Amino acid sequence: MKNPPVSMNDPSALSVVINNPGNLPESSTPIPPAPDARRRHPLSDPHEMYTRGYRRRCQHCAKCEVGVTMRKCSACKMDKYRGKECQKAAWPAHKKICKLSQAGQAVWQDLTIDDAELKRRDALRSFTRNHRVTISEAAMRSVLPFYVPPLSSDPVATSEGREDVLVIYLHTRPNAHRARAEKRFFVVDAQLETLAFVPPDLREEERLNLRYFREQTVSVRGACGSLLVVLFLLDPGSFVKSIFPVGFPLNQRSLSAPSSGWKETLVVMLIEGIVV
Ligand SMILES: [Zn+2]
Ligand SMILES: [Zn+2]
Repeated sequence: MKNPPVSMNDPSALSVVINNPGNLPESSTPIPPAPDARRRHPLSDPHEMYTRGYRRRCQHCAKCEVGVTMRKCSACKMDKYRGKECQKAAWPAHKKICKLSQAGQAVWQDLTIDDAELKRRDALRSFTRNHRVTISEAAMRSVLPFYVPPLSSDPVATSEGREDVLVIYLHTRPNAHRARAEKRFFVVDAQLETLAFVPPDLREEERLNLRYFREQTVSVRGACGSLLVVLFLLDPGSFVKSIFPVGFPLNQRSLSAPSSGWKETLVVMLIEGIVV
């Protein structure tokens, strides 16, 4: 595949189709109530399900090994590593995010838990709305390799079988209450998953959402691929997330867009609060 540089200034180059404008998470899955840790098994805890993979993965080499005790960054208490070496190697890159994590953890502290969650949810909605073009473009590029040779020679048939979920992990940014909507959170990681990643009790609903959205988009725009995007807040004690479907046209132009570097671009755009 050709791999020209991505133009940050020309989102229209990829002509991403965006669903129900102005109608963000209203229609998506309601926020699950905070589980009672004494009564629920961790596997039935949607938040735990969503973040388990993330928490187990070394934030440097991305390996996750069962039975290895992870080392937590003692400063931010968020990132985990398989050992001293990984932690050391990750530090130059982690340094900036570590500071932000530490400061971000204090932002909602004066509020009651319910108020803090409401504030977070509203903030995440605005954040998502403002970054919608960037996120949709990254989402499309993250799945493009599956729609082109050698993985596929029939993009339309491929779109019917795929159930991709792009998960974007975020933290509250320090001074989030005073920051502009697009700067209230910063991204720490993004990972392409499938619907199997969504907790079982929400999976069928999200599967239907995704199918319905694709059919609607196809009926209006012609051949389209689609996937779900989940923005997941990793703040300690928070259960806030935002889910929305993204569609993209299956034409020559979109299928020849570059797929490499989608994550790097997304991380930079969201961390810097760049709205396109
Ligand atoms: Zn590692
Ligand atoms: Zn840290």
